[in-house]
Amino acid sequence: MLAGMVTYLCPQDGTRADTTTLTWCCPVCRGPWDLDYEPVGPLSLNSLTTRVNSLWRYEEALPLSSPATSLGEGRTPLVPLTGTVSAKLDFLMPTLSFKDRGAVMLAELARRLSPGRVVADSSGNAGTAVAAYCARAGLPCTVYVPEGTSPKKTEQIRAHGARLEIVPGGREATALAARTAADAPGTFYASHVFNPYFLHGTKTYVYEMWEELGGRLPDAIAVPVGNGTLLLGAALAITELHAQGLIDERPALIAVQAEAVSPLAAAFRAGADGLLDDPGTDGAATPTLAEGIAIPRPPRARQILAAVRESGGTFLTVTESRIREAQLDLAARGLYVETTGVACWAAVGDWVDRSVVVPLCGAGLKTGLAD
Ligand SMILES: [Zn+2]
Repeated sequence: MLAGMVTYLCPQDGTRADTTTLTWCCPVCRGPWDLDYEPVGPLSLNSLTTRVNSLWRYEEALPLSSPATSLGEGRTPLVPLTGTVSAKLDFLMPTLSFKDRGAVMLAELARRLSPGRVVADSSGNAGTAVAAYCARAGLPCTVYVPEGTSPKKTEQIRAHGARLEIVPGGREATALAARTAADAPGTFYASHVFNPYFLHGTKTYVYEMWEELGGRLPDAIAVPVGNGTLLLGAALAITELHAQGLIDERPALIAVQAEAVSPLAAAFRAGADGLLDDPGTDGAATPTLAEGIAIPRPPRARQILAAVRESGGTFLTVTESRIREAQLDLAARGLYVETTGVACWAAVGDWVDRSVVVPLCGAGLKTGLAD
């Protein structure tokens, strides 16, 4: 059953909808939904010892419970890289990326709504995760990806039995194609950007860190940011843990973008609340090795900028050569990570004065070694 008292809420204009709706965005402003939802909480560290060994152990904090679609996702290791920097190995997930945290929530929600089909759009990893969890849930699934997506990712999507639609043009054209398909009756849009259940899955990344560190968080949490799904999930978790008195200090959020596609970093530096006007609206024009965060117009831009500012954090950008070096450097330390997933290590590798956790978000085999 769905948890009680959960509704969709538009953060722009306050429009509400029941979470059984297939209307995937606010009908007034066409913006993404948030969830109006209070965690059932409070969690207690001691009570966790006997829980299921997956992200579903934080049941008081999740908007769904008793999942039929779980593949045992979550509980990834935290490994020291330097005296102050630790890596959380989220590439050790069922589909080899952190997106499983959110995809399992969307597939579980979709399973309960029994739509005619599920559609998703992705630069690769979110689509792969949705395809896998839809296979687990027995739901027909179509995934839209931009042309040029890594062949290993499209192979993985097909292997899970999803229909693959390769869209010419960049990530924006792909999103548009999926949104058009999502408007067809009986369709569940498993959007990691528009559906807030995804963010309530990615927030478990921080709950796990809190548990592993014995009820505290590092000084800073670095996250790669394209559509901001991990960053906004992390911000949710920090807010919830703080509101329940489970942490005293709120960590700074260090948002990392590839210099080649860095609309959020540019807006942050300009002191803007939202994206700056930019005629170059499609990421296809500026290729980057960090394909997973090459998002020129993220729909949740305002929320991302506000979350980073409220945390006392900042934006960092990394060059293509720095990404290449970081991938080789991590591999030399025994960790083979995809090019998007090394961005945070590339940005904070020299971090010395405060503790920071970087996510290694996707497996190296998904993209291969940058040349
Ligand atoms: Zn709205």
